[in-house]
Amino acid sequence: MQKNVSLAAYNTFRFSYQAEYFAVAETLESLKVLLAWANRLDIKVTIIGGGSNLLISNDISGLVIINRLAGMKAREHLGDLVSFTVAAGETWHNVVEHAIEQEWYGIENLALIPGTIGAAPVQNIGAYGVEIKDVLARVQVIDQTTGDVYWVNARDCGFAYRDSHFKGKWKNKLIITSVELTLKKHADLLLSYGGLANRVEGEPSLKKVFETVCKVRQEKLPNPSELANAGSFFKNPIVSSEQHDELKKRFPNLVSFPFESGFKLAAGWLIDQAGWKGKKYQGVGVYDKQALVLVNYSEENAAPLMVLEAQIKESILDLYGVELEREPVEFPVLVNNPASELSFKVDGEA
Ligand SMILES: Cc1cc2nc3c(=O)[nH]c(=O)nc-3n(C[C@H](O)[C@H](O)[C@H](O)COP(=O)(O)OP(=O)(O)OC[C@H]3O[C@@H](n4cnc5c(N)ncnc54)[C@H](O)[C@@H]3O)c2cc1C
Repeated sequence: MQKNVSLAAYNTFRFSYQAEYFAVAETLESLKVLLAWANRLDIKVTIIGGGSNLLISNDISGLVIINRLAGMKAREHLGDLVSFTVAAGETWHNVVEHAIEQEWYGIENLALIPGTIGAAPVQNIGAYGVEIKDVLARVQVIDQTTGDVYWVNARDCGFAYRDSHFKGKWKNKLIITSVELTLKKHADLLLSYGGLANRVEGEPSLKKVFETVCKVRQEKLPNPSELANAGSFFKNPIVSSEQHDELKKRFPNLVSFPFESGFKLAAGWLIDQAGWKGKKYQGVGVYDKQALVLVNYSEENAAPLMVLEAQIKESILDLYGVELEREPVEFPVLVNNPASELSFKVDGEA
């Protein structure tokens, strides 16, 4: 464990705030010890995976734990299903690659989404018509307060569009330590979203779909290791059918998809049409190939990005009457944390 560590290398926006206490957990046992230490001293715990869906906007008081729990295990069933259990700190894309090598179907459309598998259920990651909830059997969690470890079935996790109980009532209570996916050994490809069918060359196969998804994503999304960003900065807004019809009259080219009883609007299209693509503000900006992505060219702190965000939101509200909601999780500023009063030893026993 260390004290006052810069988090610049642990969030893909590369904002350079500090963690008051900092540790990397590589095993479930070490995670338990860290949580027990934090509990004993009444210190708040923040868990970070790959930091690719974060907006850190200030120093974080308390203990920041980087999740690096490792390991994968598969159990093949009679018939054509596979239970694939993966420790939460494994990189999501490595999990997808492993599935492709084994010829297991179900997560090929989710290739190249950055981050850990443990964070994937938190916002129910999705791309090209597939969400992790579609293949998730259950998650193993640890209760931050009691240290109890148990499994929760996927159907009880409150999954919705980019949402789950891990972002709501279980936030700061449960940490995901392992994820069990149910994948298929028979061909079951979904090509009807995002123009995938037109991009796959020749007869579609598992490998071809995987490669096409990787190629398309590399063309249109900035690689966080080259240009700091957190992927889509806004969720696609959901509007009623009435509001959608009015907007469609004013903007015939509006990009939208039926969703539940209303419509989901393509936030990238709204922002692009409002003239924001490629715009810069101080050291941050709107990515010039995809207006939904905000990028950080040179800033160490999040203030300019939050100004840009506010300006975009205001302009979208003025133009379309639609309120944009941020996708990345902001870590709040904590004041008067008792941790700041404590003395600290490197072995973690304060
Ligand atoms: C270039 C780019 C493209 C992206 N494309 C997509 C996309 O197509 N679809 C999509 O859905 N997302 C996308 N994202 C967002 C991001 O990759 C996902 O949300 C990913 O699941 C985040 O994983 P992470 O490990 O980086 O999480 P982090 O950013 O580290 O954490 C995100 C949140 O989850 C919590 N958390 C992390 N680990 C755990 C755990 N083990 N238990 C409980 N809570 C935890 C954190 O406290 C935080 O609140 C993209 C991001 C980038 C940078």
